Amino acid sequence: MTDQYKYLLPDDRIPRAWYNIQADLPVPLPPGLNPATGKPLAPDDLAAIFPMELIRQEVSTEREIEIPEPVREIYKLWRPSPLHRAVRLERALDTPARIFYKYEGVSPAGSHKPNTAVAQAFYNREAGIKKLSTETGAGQWGCSLAFAGSLFGLEVKVYMVKVSYAQKPYRRALMETYGATCIPSPSTETAAGRAVLAEHPDSPGSLGIAISEAVEVAAQNADTNYALGSVLNHVGLHQSVIGLEAIEQMEMAGFWPDVVIACAGGGSNFAGIAFPFLGKKLREGTDVRVVAVEPAGCPTLTRGTYAYDFGDIAHLTPLMKMHTLGSSFVPPGFHAGGLRYHGMGPLVSHAKELGLIEARAVYQNPCFEAGLMFARAEGIVPAPESTHAVRGAIDEALAAKAEGKPRTILFNLSGHGHFDMQAYMDYAAGKLQDLDYDEAALAESLAKLPEVAPA
Ligand SMILES: *Cc1c(COP(=O)(O)O)cnc(C)c1O
Repeated sequence: MTDQYKYLLPDDRIPRAWYNIQADLPVPLPPGLNPATGKPLAPDDLAAIFPMELIRQEVSTEREIEIPEPVREIYKLWRPSPLHRAVRLERALDTPARIFYKYEGVSPAGSHKPNTAVAQAFYNREAGIKKLSTETGAGQWGCSLAFAGSLFGLEVKVYMVKVSYAQKPYRRALMETYGATCIPSPSTETAAGRAVLAEHPDSPGSLGIAISEAVEVAAQNADTNYALGSVLNHVGLHQSVIGLEAIEQMEMAGFWPDVVIACAGGGSNFAGIAFPFLGKKLREGTDVRVVAVEPAGCPTLTRGTYAYDFGDIAHLTPLMKMHTLGSSFVPPGFHAGGLRYHGMGPLVSHAKELGLIEARAVYQNPCFEAGLMFARAEGIVPAPESTHAVRGAIDEALAAKAEGKPRTILFNLSGHGHFDMQAYMDYAAGKLQDLDYDEAALAESLAKLPEVAPA
């Protein structure tokens, strides 16, 4: 060990297999449904938009799925990612708690998302696909897939939520730097986009709309597949490298976490850090609490209904059983664009229903307050999404202080905020509002949940 407060693993400790929590669940995950038949999805239902290997991973109940060597080679550009102990933050909080964080902002795109982007690009290229279409909110996923596409010679087309396209020109520039095309959504290129524009010419766009556009393009072109940066089981699977490395690093540090925390939009970085720890709990009884922190303006896990729903506004996706605010729900404008999705990953939702995880919703001002405190103590400026995890960790540390007892906290710092400084400027200027979602609009959106016959 070279440094007491930073735990690094050599390249050859990059995991050789991803961890699949479906192998250890006490109750199996409810299957995705084909909306046309109401029957469980068959592999062929997804074959128009995903390569067969990813479809296989989506439904696999094998505990370990081997990471292809070309993917591990690319992971070496930034993995294993460091685990730090936030001693200066501990001192600033005057807490007896030990705070550790796993830092995923060291990737080329600045977040955890390349962990799955690289794997998805690899399997698509292996399947002979030439182009990928996708959506992006704040731009993190679009940049990650653009990066991965450039490594595997795939053309990448990104539908970017229109309001973010205007607000985050540097994210778009980064996608273009990697050679991708970035289109503001809703666009006139797709039937889904044109339908929205006909009704709302000034639509600021949403992830649900952008997903419809990207899926439509993939479904209609044989050489094009669709890639999703969160929500799906195979995405969380690829993110398990975070937790698998963190388990080794916590062992190096000589502490086991009492609580593991991450922010949750579609749930992929949360699943990534938490599920390997949860798996150990399920198999070996090693106790650990797991907490997902979500925005109060888009409170999917804490306020959503657990039901079958579509992943997009045009209802082109399969039905997934998940916590949802309804596919037509549009959250109020807060800065953590990556947390503005109406649904939550089915596996994370299922774990919540089984009582395996806890969830909390927080407003953005206390999150930025936590982000600023973290930046001033530890030097890293968290992405707006990641400030939710920082808030969660600080609250646990303050609870430990109130109790006067130590507690070991591990959280995932999912990305840095270098492209999101406008949010910090707005916070500093006192311009951020703690917006609640519109209760009436939520009720209306939930009333439109699809009817599904009980299994
Ligand atoms: C996209 C993103 C998130 C939210 O996505 P999850 O799938 O819930 O992890 C969180 N943090 C950062 C930095 C992101 O880019």
